[in-house]
Amino acid sequence: MRALTVRPDARNSLELREVPDPTPAPGELLVRTVAIGICGTDFQLIAGDHGLAPDGEQHLVIGHESLAEVIQVPQGSSFKIGDLVVGVVRRPDPLPCPSCAAGEWDMCQNGLYTERGIKGRHGYASDLFTLEERFAVAVPPQLRSTGVLLEPASVVAKAWEQIEHMAKRTPAYKPRSVLVTGAGPIGLLAAMMGVQRGYEVTVVDHAQGGLKPQLVRELGASYCGDITQLKVTPEIVIECTGAGEVIMKILQINARNGIVCLTGLSSGQHRAKLAADELGNTLVMENDVVLGSVNANLRHYQSALAALTAAPQGWLERMIARRVAVARYQEAFERHSQDVKVVIDWAA
Ligand code: BGC
Repeated sequence: MRALTVRPDARNSLELREVPDPTPAPGELLVRTVAIGICGTDFQLIAGDHGLAPDGEQHLVIGHESLAEVIQVPQGSSFKIGDLVVGVVRRPDPLPCPSCAAGEWDMCQNGLYTERGIKGRHGYASDLFTLEERFAVAVPPQLRSTGVLLEPASVVAKAWEQIEHMAKRTPAYKPRSVLVTGAGPIGLLAAMMGVQRGYEVTVVDHAQGGLKPQLVRELGASYCGDITQLKVTPEIVIECTGAGEVIMKILQINARNGIVCLTGLSSGQHRAKLAADELGNTLVMENDVVLGSVNANLRHYQSALAALTAAPQGWLERMIARRVAVARYQEAFERHSQDVKVVIDWAA
């Protein structure tokens, strides 16, 4: 079968190669890939900046944002042939640590977790893959064209859970205004879930026109094309750019008792000076919380599924700005100015 692979120890080694078909182990589903989403992590893997091949292997099959159709089930399975599924990315560390043992692998305590398509396990960007039932999330047929957004949505659902947990630290404080920095897929999904929760959401991004501002406004959120022109004092900030200067700016403008959740990873191209003393004073004097959030466990996949199901399907479909046939996979990794989410259409 065909698989998209990289050599994590090399730069620009992405290729579509023939690899052996997978054989399901007891309790595993065999699935046929429908779509694979591309994200910043994939670009880091291709650049050789991130990622780990499985033990003893040189190549890593990439792809952690999946949508697939079940073609073979183990005896007594709760799935049936034809069901749509999304694969969970992370697997618990082998020890396992108390968090992984409790199914909270997204909060792994020792860092020995693995991740399909990223860290020590082959991913989903291949014609077929196998999936342990407990790491397969069933997706309803009406999400056939948008269910590939479930994994990025799960990461956002976790960020929202963490934020709302922090907001409960003081009962009298009921935050209303939310700022999302960056109108990429994570930012747009964060804004969508903010609106669904009834917050007043503003999204800031440097795009001056086109799809991103349109999608934000259609949500009923406000759009701002210049962070220095922001008119809100946000009580909650979801930072999705990973850019140091944006992080520094939001720590200056957020409201007292503010909650700032960092979800973006830096591409490392910009350097922002950190005035650590001043920053410390602001955090202390304003009771600010700054938290980082990564990955997701099953609870977050379920919450993301509810959010995607409740969202206008046309809006989600437009977020997928390009669908590229697998035979032309290189085009999926070209950067286009109007891209939001780019998906490899494995069925084309
Ligand atoms: C994925 C997460 C993963 C993280 C770090 C992100 O792109 O969405 O599931 O934990 O990368 O590897």
